[in-house]
Amino acid sequence: MACSQEHEGVIAPAYSRIKVFEFEHGRRNVPYTCTQCEEAWCLHACPTSAISIDHTLGIKAVDESLCVGCRVCTIACPYGTINMNSRSGKAVKCNLCGGDPACSEACPTGAIRYESSRDT
Ligand code: SF4
Ligand code: SF4
Repeated sequence: MACSQEHEGVIAPAYSRIKVFEFEHGRRNVPYTCTQCEEAWCLHACPTSAISIDHTLGIKAVDESLCVGCRVCTIACPYGTINMNSRSGKAVKCNLCGGDPACSEACPTGAIRYESSRDT
C-alpha cells in the first residue's frame, strides 16, 4: 500500500513495485521486489536502452521517456520484479524511492530495513 501511494498516489497494491508472495500454501507470506541484481537481465534485454545503472543509488532505473512498452524486460527478469504499469504502458520496477523507501518506512515491525550492503 505504501509503495503504490508513493509512486501512483493511490492505495492500490496492484500498482505496487513490491509484491507479497505466498509460500507453503499461504502459511508464509514474503514481500519481494527487485534485488538490483548484478546480472541485470532486464537492462541487457531492453532494445531501447531505457534501463540504465544509477551509480548514486546502485539501482537499475527505467527511463520512461525511452520505454516503448515492449515487455521484453519483464520476460528477461527471472524474478518477475519488473512489470508493466497499466496506467502508463511503461515498465516499472523498484527504484528505492530515491534512497528513502516507502515500504521500509511503513513497515510496522521493522521487517523491511534499508541498509547499506556494506553493513550486512
Ligand atoms: S518495456 Fe520498456 S524498459 Fe522494458 S524492454 Fe521494453 S522498452 Fe525496455
Ligand atoms: S528487474 Fe529483475 S533482472 Fe532487473 S535488476 Fe531487478 S531483479 Fe535483476
